[in-house]
Amino acid sequence: MSDDLFLKIINREIPADIIYENDELLAFRDISPQAPVHILIIPKEHIKTMNDLEPKHTEMIGKLFLAAAEIAAKEGLADDGYRVVMNCNRHGGQAVYHIHLHLLGGRQMGWPPG
Ligand code: AMP
Repeated sequence: MSDDLFLKIINREIPADIIYENDELLAFRDISPQAPVHILIIPKEHIKTMNDLEPKHTEMIGKLFLAAAEIAAKEGLADDGYRVVMNCNRHGGQAVYHIHLHLLGGRQMGWPPG
C-alpha cells in the first residue's frame, strides 16, 4: 500500500467514481464537490506538486488539459464554461500531494478566489 491517496485510487485499493482512464491519466469525481460538477484529473505518475514538474512532463500536462476539456464537453459544461485549478503547497490549498487538475462547473464561479 502506498501513502499516496490518489495512487491508491489508481491501483483500485480505495474506491472512487472513475469517469475516464487511459495509459497516463485517470479522472474521478471529487468526494467533496465544490460545484455541481467537480472532477479531478490526475497523471498516473506520482508527482507531488506543480513544483516537481520537469520538461519531460510537458506532453503529459498538455494531455491533462485536453482531457479536462473533453470531460467538460461530455459533462455539458463547454458552452456555459467551467474552471480548472491546480493547487500547489500550503498557500495554494493543496491537501493531496499527487498533482491533480480540478475541473469545476455547473454554477457561476467568483473571482478572485477566496
Ligand atoms: P487539493 O486541496 O487541491 O489537494 O484537492 C484535493 C481534493 O481531493 C479535494 O477536493 C478533496 O475533496 C479530494 N479528495 C480527497 N479524498 C478523495 C477521495 N477519496 N476521492 C475523491 N476525491 C477525494
